[in-house]
Amino acid sequence: MNRGRNALASWLLTVGFSYLYLGEFLGHRVEGQIAASSELGVASLVLLSSGISVIMTVRWARSSGKADENLETASPRRRFLLALLGSAGGLVATLAAALFPNRRWGSVTGSKIFLVRPPYKADLARDEWGGSKVTGYRRLGRTGAFVSDISLGSGSSTGGRQTLEVAREAIDRGINYFDTAPDYSEAGSENRLGEAMKGRRDKMFVATKFCLPHGHLGPGTSVEGYTNAVEGSLERLQTDWVDLIHVHSCNSVERLLDENVHEAFDRLKEAGKVRFLGVSTHTPNLEEVANAAIESDRFDVMMLAYHFGAWPALSDIIDRAAARDIGIVGMKVLRGSQHHFLDWSPDERDSFTQASFKWVLSNPGVSCLVISLWESGQLDEFLYASGQSLRPQDVAVLERYQELTSDSHCRPHCGLCLDGCSEGLPIHDILRHRMYFENFGAQKEAMRLYASLDQGAEVCGSCDAPCRSSCPSGIAIPERMRDAHEMLSASPGRSLG
Ligand code: SF4
Ligand code: SF4
Repeated sequence: MNRGRNALASWLLTVGFSYLYLGEFLGHRVEGQIAASSELGVASLVLLSSGISVIMTVRWARSSGKADENLETASPRRRFLLALLGSAGGLVATLAAALFPNRRWGSVTGSKIFLVRPPYKADLARDEWGGSKVTGYRRLGRTGAFVSDISLGSGSSTGGRQTLEVAREAIDRGINYFDTAPDYSEAGSENRLGEAMKGRRDKMFVATKFCLPHGHLGPGTSVEGYTNAVEGSLERLQTDWVDLIHVHSCNSVERLLDENVHEAFDRLKEAGKVRFLGVSTHTPNLEEVANAAIESDRFDVMMLAYHFGAWPALSDIIDRAAARDIGIVGMKVLRGSQHHFLDWSPDERDSFTQASFKWVLSNPGVSCLVISLWESGQLDEFLYASGQSLRPQDVAVLERYQELTSDSHCRPHCGLCLDGCSEGLPIHDILRHRMYFENFGAQKEAMRLYASLDQGAEVCGSCDAPCRSSCPSGIAIPERMRDAHEMLSASPGRSLG
């Protein structure tokens, strides 16, 4: 009887491990993220635990009936069946426990998954791109640092794909500016960059954000809350200081000028733990936030969503920032990265990323751009554009891209339609998460981000859509929102975080 209880306890433990760890591991594998060694470790633990449970089940079955004097030992056939059924039941429960945290995938049909294309690199690598290195370095405003014009970014949707090897190779190829944040891949990005920089920290200019691995720091955060967050980043990055700390994804002047964040920065700077202050923003309030940052004269760097076709006021902001010697870092430079989906020639498609980079860097007010990458081939392709001038044929490709995508690309800093939604939905955020899913191949992360929103697009299905004509670019908001919900949500609700 004891053997039976032990076998049961072992299976319960195995099912618990499977639910807690194997589910996450499977989710990351399905999404295409590289499994961290710790995740492989827990997967092995579940396998080991399953094996032990099977052995205990077999031992229990073999002794079946022996504990009761009044019973004869069960027949070999019965013992075999008991062992088989007990083990099979345990294994099925273990598998179900691993699948349960990924049940959102139930609403993602095969066709949607296969819509997702590989990373945003060219279909055909060209010989001349092989081994490209950074050839352009630019001054990052008043920081005085000279940084690689094409630099390594990370991101909530793609950070989990970066590998240690590629980050090291990026350094070898001349990238000296890393942008990361605690919430990119839930601290995975900082951990990896910390490993990659070992022994080369002095060569690198490292930017991270006031943030925690599981979310942003909002209004009301204490000075200690901010300083502790930076201490966590320093630990993960395995360094004594970061060069630049951004107010992360800043969506309001209130957050930008929060006294506590500035007090925390001053204390950290005095202690030699941070050097410069920045702000990153791609909010609909970008203009207001960026103008306030320039006027405050507190910020050394601004990281802005900037790409071909950005609205004219953004160029004006960059000019005024440059006049105050504020460094500008461009992000989201691929304008939604839809080039793989367009009906155009392979040459046009494969020249899109380099043309986009050259256009961003053609603005002398821009110090560098950051781009997520996780394959050596992307380094070849992307760095081939370093130090290069914009050519007429590049502009032609970008104009064609704009023409083909104007009714499907939701600009990250826009928000002009938000007042047109009777439900107050964050249309720009929902369509951005859809973009992560469809264009960046980060399905699970997009679903997680969508699930974390206070409001989703489930109401769009029964709404009479007063938002219909509120997008100046002609985006069919109601339809794209309904599709976004179907794509990003668990069926039938959004209850999973
Ligand atoms: S849907 Fe159109 S108006 Fe709304 S945020 Fe996107 S680009 Fe701007
Ligand atoms: S259809 Fe959706 S986005 Fe449009 S007004 Fe209704 S709830 Fe808002």
